[in-house]
Amino acid sequence: MGALGQQIVTYGGREYGFITNGRGVINAVPFFDTAEFADPATNWAIPSKSLEVRAVLLHHWAGWYGPRLTETATASQEFDQLVACARDHRTRFGIGPGYNLIAFPSGRVWAVGRHGTHRAHTKGREVKSMRPWNEVGRGACVAGNLSEEPMTQRLAQAVRTMVAEVMSWPGVIPDVAVHEHGLTPTVNSAGTKYSQATECPGRALSAWRAQGGLTMPNTQATPDDPAWKQYQPGPVSYEPEPLQEVWRQGYRVGRAHQARDDHDALMGLVPGLLEAVRSPRDAEATPPIGILRQMGMAS
Ligand SMILES: [Zn+2]
Repeated sequence: MGALGQQIVTYGGREYGFITNGRGVINAVPFFDTAEFADPATNWAIPSKSLEVRAVLLHHWAGWYGPRLTETATASQEFDQLVACARDHRTRFGIGPGYNLIAFPSGRVWAVGRHGTHRAHTKGREVKSMRPWNEVGRGACVAGNLSEEPMTQRLAQAVRTMVAEVMSWPGVIPDVAVHEHGLTPTVNSAGTKYSQATECPGRALSAWRAQGGLTMPNTQATPDDPAWKQYQPGPVSYEPEPLQEVWRQGYRVGRAHQARDDHDALMGLVPGLLEAVRSPRDAEATPPIGILRQMGMAS
């Protein structure tokens, strides 16, 4: 958390070391960027010439892949759940984890999905480019259920870190947006607007964002600093202004207890998109990019 260095985790009786960058993002991409977690029959690479990041899309797990973890969780406990998520998404979407980045209540941020690959986090297409969200959006996810669990100071910093991390990647357009998943303007391949129909990334996170949380500067607080104390939770009754955009119609309260399976089904690849992703693509390899170049995994 916070400084360039190495994060050690124990998984399956072995120790793994992951490099963290200057923002404290732990690079677990090399662990997940393997056939075990991405169907080799699909070319997931985005040709570098069309690499474009048009938005950061905020998600939550809407639950846990094991026991609920708190700010005192160990890196190994978090890694266990990252692997469980990766296996789950690999089975159902072909690639896992479906996101690029995942943050935990401890404040740790893990890079899990390589920039330059299609992921599986948001259905449909971006309105202006008409390109699939899983190709032009980068998925930044908070572990847990942020419709039931509060935003904390550590999580707030972690979300800002995730956004800043994506902003440092190649291909980010000048007017790049940050959308909550459920409020993401979306069209289908015919250009028809539709709703993501989910309150992901959770009402507490959406309320925090509406209060301006995303634009607050990160502090250099340490666990002993009062700034680490519990963030004032946003009102979990928060709903966005009831505008008429089609994409807001499915965002409503009352879905806090939705099963994680419901959420994952919503963020999966729609059939048409799945075909597009699985169709033959340029065999161009995506080179190691940006921060990922300096990161590696030692076993
Ligand atoms: Zn989501």
